[in-house]
Amino acid sequence: MQQAPICNPTTTTARWWSKDSIAIVTGANKGIGYALVKRFAQLGLTVVLTSRDPSKGVKAVDSLKVLGLDGNICFCQLDISDQASVRSFVSWFRSKFDAFDILVNNAAVCFNAMKENSMEHAETVVKTNYYGSKLLTEAILPLCRPSNSPFITRILNISSRLGTLDKLKNTKMKAILGDEKRLSEDRIDMVVGVFLQDVKDGRWERQGWPDIWTDYSVSKLALNAYSRVLARRYEGLVSVNCFCPGFTQTAMTDGQGKHSADDAAEMAASLALLSPSRLTTGKFYTGSTTRGMHSKL
Ligand code: NAP
Repeated sequence: MQQAPICNPTTTTARWWSKDSIAIVTGANKGIGYALVKRFAQLGLTVVLTSRDPSKGVKAVDSLKVLGLDGNICFCQLDISDQASVRSFVSWFRSKFDAFDILVNNAAVCFNAMKENSMEHAETVVKTNYYGSKLLTEAILPLCRPSNSPFITRILNISSRLGTLDKLKNTKMKAILGDEKRLSEDRIDMVVGVFLQDVKDGRWERQGWPDIWTDYSVSKLALNAYSRVLARRYEGLVSVNCFCPGFTQTAMTDGQGKHSADDAAEMAASLALLSPSRLTTGKFYTGSTTRGMHSKL
């Protein structure tokens, strides 16, 4: 694993962004997404806080108002797993802004929590964490900054180290996802399809899928692979990286974790705001408040 010290946007002098820089955060009514909106707003970007439940989204914006941060925060409903919602979000966005600078695909579900490995909701997990992030990315990508802009658009996919290739023991599936040259969306979708079929047929436990939080891990494996495909396809136009925030105290972990959502958001913001001279693409970063930030290809 290769060390990659990340510049802290609060201390760097290379502040490339302004209030005209637009950041979109999905699943931002609570947890890491909410903390990230707060962080971006504190740093002076314009932020679009999205939430699948409008009342939760408005409540989140109201709570940021109390902190005096609402001036540069907009709200729009967005359920990433619902095509109609994604379409209406993109048309709303287009009516307000020319382009976006940062997209953070943060929204995700996990039904295992700190309990047993339940596969009951595997389809929803994959549909949200992988296909939902992909749906939004494809719909909003035409609104990335043009190639002659001073700053290129950034996509940060909030992922998990549970979705790294070493967690997969199925040699055939591992070979497909590990074959960088031939990796494509079709091949990723095929792997995901095999997984969902194994779940349907009740044989997923014997097929070498990740041992813990299996459906969640597969969804993040797919998201990581998709990020590498995108990074290659849009090299020079869009930077695409993944970030695992580490074990963080949110609803997803029943409040357990090694650090707060604010800590995780600070690390995510540092990555999303890397100065242009240090900007990377196609990387998977892991963060921890004690060990700092690491990256591997
Ligand atoms: P969280 O507190 O449960 O927040 C998840 C957010 O995603 C909520 O706002 C939720 O909305 C939203 N969401 C779920 N399905 C959605 C959909 N279809 N459309 C739009 N929004 C949707 O979890 P978190 O810990 O902050 O997780 C944030 C990200 O970090 C996730 O990608 C997660 O996989 C990743 N992560 C977390 C940890 C950790 O230890 N917490 C570790 C590694 C990675 P509702 O409130 O309506 O449910």
